[in-house]
Amino acid sequence: MHYSKIFIPTLKESPADAEVVSHKLMVRAGMIRQVASGIYTILPLGLRVLKKVEQIIREEMNRIDGQETFLPSIQPAELWQESGRWDFYGKELLRIKDRHGREFCYGPTHEEIITDMVRKEVKSYRQLPLTLYQIQTKFRDEVRPRYGIMRGREFMMKDAYSFHADDASAKETYQDMAGAYSNIFKRCGLEFKMVVADSGTIGGNFSHEFAVLADSGEDHIGFCDSCDYASNLELAEAKAPSPSADNTEQDDLKEVSTPGKKSVKEVAEFLSVSPEKIVKTIVLDSDQGLVAGLVRGDHEINPIKLKNLIGAEWLHPADAKTIAEKTDVPCGFVGPVGLKLKVFADREVGALSNFVTGANKTDAHFTGVQVDRDMKIEKIADIRKVIEGDPCPRCDSGTYQVKRGIEVGHIFILGTKYSESMKAHFLDPNGKDSLMVMGCYGVGVGRTAAAAIEQNHDEKGIIWPVPIAPFAVHIIPTNYSQEAVKNASDSAYRILQEKNIEVLLDDRPDRMGVKLNDADLLGIPLQIIIGPKNLEAGKVELKVRKTRVSELHDYPGVLDNIPGILDDLLS
Ligand code: ATP
Ligand code: MG
Repeated sequence: MHYSKIFIPTLKESPADAEVVSHKLMVRAGMIRQVASGIYTILPLGLRVLKKVEQIIREEMNRIDGQETFLPSIQPAELWQESGRWDFYGKELLRIKDRHGREFCYGPTHEEIITDMVRKEVKSYRQLPLTLYQIQTKFRDEVRPRYGIMRGREFMMKDAYSFHADDASAKETYQDMAGAYSNIFKRCGLEFKMVVADSGTIGGNFSHEFAVLADSGEDHIGFCDSCDYASNLELAEAKAPSPSADNTEQDDLKEVSTPGKKSVKEVAEFLSVSPEKIVKTIVLDSDQGLVAGLVRGDHEINPIKLKNLIGAEWLHPADAKTIAEKTDVPCGFVGPVGLKLKVFADREVGALSNFVTGANKTDAHFTGVQVDRDMKIEKIADIRKVIEGDPCPRCDSGTYQVKRGIEVGHIFILGTKYSESMKAHFLDPNGKDSLMVMGCYGVGVGRTAAAAIEQNHDEKGIIWPVPIAPFAVHIIPTNYSQEAVKNASDSAYRILQEKNIEVLLDDRPDRMGVKLNDADLLGIPLQIIIGPKNLEAGKVELKVRKTRVSELHDYPGVLDNIPGILDDLLS
């Protein structure tokens, strides 16, 4: 492609509302333009990248026997009413009416449409399993669209749905999908983690998100620095304490006066004990009433773990007024001894003896407290937050690292949620009517491209990983109107194209500085700079965008080495 012919409206300035670097650079590099909040036009350079991402996804889906389909973006309300999501989905669902007043929505996801099709066409176990996918525009009326196409309202997603005769078959496809997703993000050249995610009511280990590690990520990911365990930080497991952690003799329970000392730090200093020997009692409000959670003084309670443990719909720390009203204990002095609430203890507390707790009255604490002797515990479980440096729960040598991540993909076993509500039945080998088991699997195409920029850029611009770069090579003649330079550039262009390498030739009459700045902004992996002096000596300059290292090479001999150089950039 010649630069003068392709539409790349680059900008010097970033848009004022752009918070993250990918948004800034995609606009500046002329890849996208905003039309309305969260709604974008994708320009030619941007589309070249999205098509590359799509093609990688397509190949990996086909490899595991996924079949590409194309479902409508406009979906009748009836199907959503049948699944029960018409009311549940809330304002993210864009609802529209046709000329007859019939209600529709613009699909934010496609479980209803696909389940409707499959229930009508699939009658026998012989037609299962079945994996269908599409690459399609979705619309979600996000509360706060931001970060360019990373969190848009209209965006491209690959969504796949699988249908199975039983759980075992669903799990098999789930594993294939996990492999395919890993390949997709590896092939896109991204550093990512497959992260344990909340599997809701299904349970088990059958929901994972794929997170690209980047400082601008909205999620916190806890992962082991030694094995491949990774989890959303809010669900990350703590390593179980060894049972013999603290087996000293039991002291007597003793009330001590701690005037005005409320925080762990204050009490620890006042009583000259370490914070690990103080147990915090956190009172939380939930749809199941008030409950108390015990964690060591140097730990924090994880409300999500406690909520899942007690099977609550919602749960959050109670405010001081509620605590005082409902327990008759002043905030800051609550303790588990004699507390009239259901008490749940973290496993680290379960392993302690002779610790300090609040004494359920002002200015007093207990020392010498024992879990088994002094309190009634409903359950001892993992209910604390993990932090960086904590030991890995899966391997013996690793410790937790915490980084921010961008969710680019999500795989999920749905079980019979939709086949039940929408009556997707089939006949099993014994002629018995059974419900299909389903899985669903999504990748954001635009978000993946944006995440690639978040991970690969410098102050000059984008640094595309080779597999998703809009072009592989950028030829930059210093002066295209000079005959020798033009001839060499044209011939390099033709030879590389014959090798099936995608080339952008900057044939514009602009100053060299402008062309080099644009080249660095667009981020094409390899630049070939062709100038008259070097040419006279039979040389051209090769510059690797990523390292910014420039070297002189023999011309035209170097052209034969370009495929190899591009391959080397992959690793
Ligand atoms: P998030 O928690 O970021 O809102 P989600 O959990 O709603 O995402 P899914 O329903 O799992 O997302 O959708 C699958 C994939 O679609 C996501 O992993 C992401 O890559 C992409 N995606 C979701 N919402 C958006 C959006 N608003 N803009 C761009 N891509 C999106
Ligand atoms: Mg998700």
